[in-house]
Amino acid sequence: MNAAVLLGGPGAGKGTLAGILCERSGWVHVSTGDILRDAIRKKTDVGLKARQFMDAGELVPDQVILELIDARIKEGQQDGLFLFDGFPRTVEQAAGLEHICRKHGVTLSHVFCLNVDRSVLIQRLSGRRICRTCGAVYHVVNMPPVRDGVCDVDGDELIQRPDDREEAVLNRLEVYQKQTAPLISWYREKGLLRDIDAGGAVEQTVSAVDTILSEQPGS
Ligand code: AMP
Repeated sequence: MNAAVLLGGPGAGKGTLAGILCERSGWVHVSTGDILRDAIRKKTDVGLKARQFMDAGELVPDQVILELIDARIKEGQQDGLFLFDGFPRTVEQAAGLEHICRKHGVTLSHVFCLNVDRSVLIQRLSGRRICRTCGAVYHVVNMPPVRDGVCDVDGDELIQRPDDREEAVLNRLEVYQKQTAPLISWYREKGLLRDIDAGGAVEQTVSAVDTILSEQPGS
């Protein structure tokens, strides 16, 4: 069993890219952000613990995240690949992932670093809107709904994620620089990191990933 990691700032397009790659290839999409939002909706203990951190754009404690990942890998053991989106986010989590992989016989084969200019990240996040019922994602400029503020899928109201508000966005960018960006050199030193320009259309990002995946090992 293999695993790959999508690394990149908030708004870099990790979720969109992961959705496309997993639907196409049958990979297992593991988004810690989605798992946590689901836990909040269901009001589980993890959700109650995570909410205050998430709304402020802070990271949820490493131990909570590592327990979620361990459980997810245990239940998802099958042929295919785990694609981690938004995990790991700290060096402690990356070290924890190594341990979990060893325990479950999983090999981390690729780390894709999605590079996007800060100004583009801010523009993408501050314009993002989601349906409060089905979670469909829109953007006020790049991907507007047919009717302003209304979901095309189910007609319900579009809202802004609490952590997409300006203050939380600026905090998330700072948290990324301080706590997650050190993973770039961590994985580069291990020879796993591949840089991807993710500032353009998602199709271009998908094709850059495909080019890397089609390379022969060791080439
Ligand atoms: P995302 O949907 O990946 O942007 O994550 C939204 C929020 O969930 C983050 O701002 C954090 O508060 C929390 N979160 C998601 N993944 C992690 C993680 N690996 N470590 C800590 N917090 C996380």
